[in-house]
Amino acid sequence: MPEPIVGLHHVTAIASNPQRNLDFYTGVLGLRLVKRTINFDDPGTYHFYFGDDRGSPGTILTFFPWPHMGKGNIGVGETSATAFSVPVESVPFWEERLRAAGVLVDREESRFDNTVLKFSDPDGMRLELVGRIAGVQANAARTSDVPTQHAISGFFGVTLCEVGFEKTATVLERMGFWRAGVEGHRYRFSAAAQALGSHIDVLVQPQLLPGRMGAGSVHHIAFRAPSDAAQLAWREELKTLDLDITPVLDRTYFHSIYFREPGGVLFEIATDPPGFTSDESIESLGETLKLPGWYESKRELIEKTLPPITLHKITK
Ligand code: ZN
Repeated sequence: MPEPIVGLHHVTAIASNPQRNLDFYTGVLGLRLVKRTINFDDPGTYHFYFGDDRGSPGTILTFFPWPHMGKGNIGVGETSATAFSVPVESVPFWEERLRAAGVLVDREESRFDNTVLKFSDPDGMRLELVGRIAGVQANAARTSDVPTQHAISGFFGVTLCEVGFEKTATVLERMGFWRAGVEGHRYRFSAAAQALGSHIDVLVQPQLLPGRMGAGSVHHIAFRAPSDAAQLAWREELKTLDLDITPVLDRTYFHSIYFREPGGVLFEIATDPPGFTSDESIESLGETLKLPGWYESKRELIEKTLPPITLHKITK
């Protein structure tokens, strides 16, 4: 088998207003804007990458904010919730902080023994904070006012909304995830390593209609490959399941392959290198608009087309 997949690399979602999106993820959740670039297929649209202080794999939530995008409908064949990990002692801090920011919070006392805070971002994207007893130490964003001991460390995992779990299980199990437990209609698959983003839940909800993409929808989820060689090995391995897998695509900060798992969710496998510090220093991540080489000659026009945004930087 290829080198193990330890968990998620990033999650990519759709938003509407870019400033509101930026304000929520940096100002409320305390993530760092680690990269500000454009949608390579639609250079009049931003591509925001939020993450921990270093832009570590397993912490990256990315958005395409289209200002006039209508809301999506969550349904089967989609990622229906994205969960971050926080220390269990920090759950009351987060409950209070979210409420103070005007966010409606629903507390689930015990899901596989973890307390879960459930809420939505301003576009209706469903988010969760999972209190973990022993989590991965956070690299707290230097740009945030969230005290270091309460900071989000990265992803806990995601929930996929599906008609059934069996076909998706075949793919996840081939990818090295094991069946960790069942609670009601929720089937948990976990990677062996206690890494960020190592839990994939399949929530079986056959009564729901297929999801419709829009603001608040997750477009795809990406798993980590430690190297280009491991990614190619996974491509060969997964082809034996008759999945239709793209060739390797260069996404500047990682290399990607994509395939749709049988339950309908778009999966990606992304490489850890080269990473987000490949074109700017760790101190200044996200501060300037980064363009791939072939768009540099059009920088002036692109900067004029993009809606202006204001970054929030807090000095701790
Ligand atoms: Zn991606």
